[in-house]
Amino acid sequence: MSAFYPQYTGVFAAILERVKGQRVAIIGHARPDGDCIGSQVSLARGLAARGVDVVCINGDPVPRRLQYLVAGMTFLRTDAEIAPHLDRLVIFVDCADQARVGERLKLKFPKVLACVDHHLSNVGFAEFNLVDPASAATCEMLAGMLLDAGVPVDTAAAKALYAGIMTDTGQFRFQSTSQRCFLLAGELVARGASPAEAGHELYERESHGRFKLLQRFLASMRFECGGRVCVGFLPLGIFDETGTTSEDTEGLVDYARSVDGVEVGVLIEDKSDGGVKASLRGKDPVWRLDRIAAEFNGGGHACAAGLTCAEGVEKFYPRLIAALGRQLDAGRSGPAN
Ligand code: 5GP
Ligand code: MN
Repeated sequence: MSAFYPQYTGVFAAILERVKGQRVAIIGHARPDGDCIGSQVSLARGLAARGVDVVCINGDPVPRRLQYLVAGMTFLRTDAEIAPHLDRLVIFVDCADQARVGERLKLKFPKVLACVDHHLSNVGFAEFNLVDPASAATCEMLAGMLLDAGVPVDTAAAKALYAGIMTDTGQFRFQSTSQRCFLLAGELVARGASPAEAGHELYERESHGRFKLLQRFLASMRFECGGRVCVGFLPLGIFDETGTTSEDTEGLVDYARSVDGVEVGVLIEDKSDGGVKASLRGKDPVWRLDRIAAEFNGGGHACAAGLTCAEGVEKFYPRLIAALGRQLDAGRSGPAN
């Protein structure tokens, strides 16, 4: 079988050599998603199988729906838990910049040995940067690189990698979904990943609260830019009112994008510090939502980007709509830069 990622064979081998016999921390981004947790689980298991002492660290808890992937693994979060591990070699996964792990972890782990990521906006902050925006998921990259290098991918790692590829491709639907995604998914199924189990765990176990949240989100939708932008809002207090947490916002913004005629879906969540968090989802990479997000110090991919802004929604909203309007008006031939 030819290599999935021949361009990374050398650098991945160099990283494996550097971590041999060492203590390593694999760190993912704040509010971890399936791709983040899947990357951490698979890399940690692969390195552990080679005798490396590994822990996983996140600023936020592993979400309920991803718990099935982390059984028996060490995921650390609090300052007290992390304290004995500050001197470890550090690998970041699925993080476009150092701040994505959260301010607290960024300060604790300033020196990053390696970063494995697929974000277009990745700034290359590590000693070894494996960044491939042509990949749909960091889990796609890791599945390919682990298999290429002959690092063991056990059943738990295969399930984790499958979940990451499945979620970041929108269940194998998004523009980024390539033949390689399917080839790798096949390899992972051969190693014990179960499409039915992943489908059940990730999409068939919604809580009642999440449906209340979805109802409120759908009811809040507004159309802008001549119907090409659809925005839904999560005001302060909505999580308490619906018995949910910020974890439950996953996927809501896809409903805003899914409306016929809409090019860009937006979710705006009020934050308790007076600012907002926004998620942007586009139907076409030509709209370069990573650039729109970057105008507000965020980032991400051409079709999926996010940001946090210190401004309240009243100030932020018109600025965002103006930026999106400019981009959409520029048309397919010339988006703003
Ligand atoms: P989400 O909208 O799900 O939070 O994020 C969508 C994409 O944008 C993800 O790939 C995520 O990594 C990226 N993203 C979200 N928020 C930020 C941010 O504050 N800064 C950067 N650089 N990227 C972000
Ligand atoms: Mn990802």
